[in-house]
Amino acid sequence: RGMASAASFRYKDLEIELTKNPQRKPEPSELVFGKNFTDHMLTIEWTSQEGWKPPRITPLQPLQLHPGAKALHYSVELFEGMKAYRGIDDKLRLFRPEANMERMNNSAARAALPSFDGEELIQCISKLIEVDRDWVPAAKDCSLYIRPTLIGTEPTLGVSQAEEAMLFVLLGPVGAYFKTGTFNPVSLMADPQYIRAFKGGVGNYKLGSNYGPTIRIQKEAERRGCQQVLWLYGDDHQLTEVGTMNIFMYWENESGEPELVTPPLEGIILPGVTRRSLLDLARGWNECKVTERTFTMHDLVKGLEDNRVKELFGAGTACVVCPIDRILYGEKDLHIPTMDTGAVVCRRLYQELTDIQFGRVPHDWVRSI
Ligand code: PMP
Repeated sequence: RGMASAASFRYKDLEIELTKNPQRKPEPSELVFGKNFTDHMLTIEWTSQEGWKPPRITPLQPLQLHPGAKALHYSVELFEGMKAYRGIDDKLRLFRPEANMERMNNSAARAALPSFDGEELIQCISKLIEVDRDWVPAAKDCSLYIRPTLIGTEPTLGVSQAEEAMLFVLLGPVGAYFKTGTFNPVSLMADPQYIRAFKGGVGNYKLGSNYGPTIRIQKEAERRGCQQVLWLYGDDHQLTEVGTMNIFMYWENESGEPELVTPPLEGIILPGVTRRSLLDLARGWNECKVTERTFTMHDLVKGLEDNRVKELFGAGTACVVCPIDRILYGEKDLHIPTMDTGAVVCRRLYQELTDIQFGRVPHDWVRSI
């Protein structure tokens, strides 16, 4: 593409219009994920002719979209999910926002949407959070969810690159994933007839089109008495992801070594920021093998039979880690001993990561606002 896409919007051009009608802030106990939004939003428009326009912070308001906008017809859309945390010192912190910006620009390239300078967006987002800072909950393990979104807005029905786009950022307070420090394990439905992503596809990008079609499968999991979907892949039933989380297994491998394993980033796995961080933390321990490699339902079932599987857990921004205690796999209802073993690795990772996010332990992964 031409000059426009090489350029970026700039934080220094940011315009701010404050709300005259601030909303009531919900109590931490009332928070349901994704239901509450703060008073303001960030919007940045783009055209192929003129590039990015100045970023604007405005009161939260509906978008004006032509009904022919490509986002509405061909899912020319991508998003990010990240959080700001109110630390024990009352400071607000972002956790590895550069990683989200990198992933967002990768998604934009795949969706033929314009790229931008991630550092400039971090600064605009930081300002937005500052404006709505009273919305960041102070209650334990609560945080402010950040939803950057990029859509193709050009009103032309051809399946072709959008010549107009809009980036916007929404904020909303979210509650603690686990109530009062207790890990609640989840049960999973593993049905190989459903596939989230495939080689050569777009599972490694955070495109909205990867998520809409999963809703019905999630409902089916619930109907079958499970809380989430375990996404399998291939004839050998590789474990890939859990709902919208990466998956980790801590076990004694075939050679009898303690090993923390997660599937490799080979196109069908979303490269989670939490995943990357847990790998880094565990590698720093120097206590067990930490491996990115494929593992299958056969490996899991065999490992369970031999009592070698210790913990299975999901990992993502929403919960940090989420222990798994059961998998419904065809006729088999597999008991996973994560909680029986005390979820030692799971808890340690949770503690270390949240210590960093909430400023209890200083680390260069966080960025103060
Ligand atoms: N896998 C999928 C499919 C996801 O949607 C997410 C959430 N972004 C993750 C994994 C976890 O990624 P992160 O740690 O960056 O939240």
